[in-house]
Amino acid sequence: MLNDILEGNHLRLPRVVPLHLDAPLCTFDPLEGMASMQRRNTRQRQLVFEAVQHLRNHPTADDIYLYVRSIDSKISRGTVYRNLNLLSDQGAILDVRVPGGDHFDFNTTEHAHLVCRECGAVVDALGPACTVSEDADAHVEAQTGYSEVGHALLFTGLCPACQQKLQESEEKSA
Ligand SMILES: [Zn+2]
Ligand SMILES: [Zn+2]
Repeated sequence: MLNDILEGNHLRLPRVVPLHLDAPLCTFDPLEGMASMQRRNTRQRQLVFEAVQHLRNHPTADDIYLYVRSIDSKISRGTVYRNLNLLSDQGAILDVRVPGGDHFDFNTTEHAHLVCRECGAVVDALGPACTVSEDADAHVEAQTGYSEVGHALLFTGLCPACQQKLQESEEKSA
């Protein structure tokens, strides 16, 4: 019985497999495999980029992952995060670092942000009063001996929705 199994007799395999010589014996071409992998990588990066262009409310990496998942159910969280890092390194999107985690911005021009200290929502703080001052960098360089000093402006506050929630809870407890 064991010999039968080893020899494949129990499977009654045909002894002669017809060969179609006009068909390739091996359909896997390593170069082709690499090219299609690259195509998939490019497509995934494009998908992540488009998500940031579409979600114009300073989404978190998780927001972007959920959006991209609704288009490509096979994409992994790691792939989305990796592409977000890549795209922000390339300067295609902006990585907005705020307490509580990173947010991403389609707008790559230099601008300041305002973060709600209750819910963490991030919005733009625009206008001439909200620009980064190069004088301040030079001042800090002279004061500390550091070189290549730069800074980002981050405002904090309470967003209108959180103000309302707070007001409602104060009214309840009053
Ligand atoms: Zn809020
Ligand atoms: Zn912004």
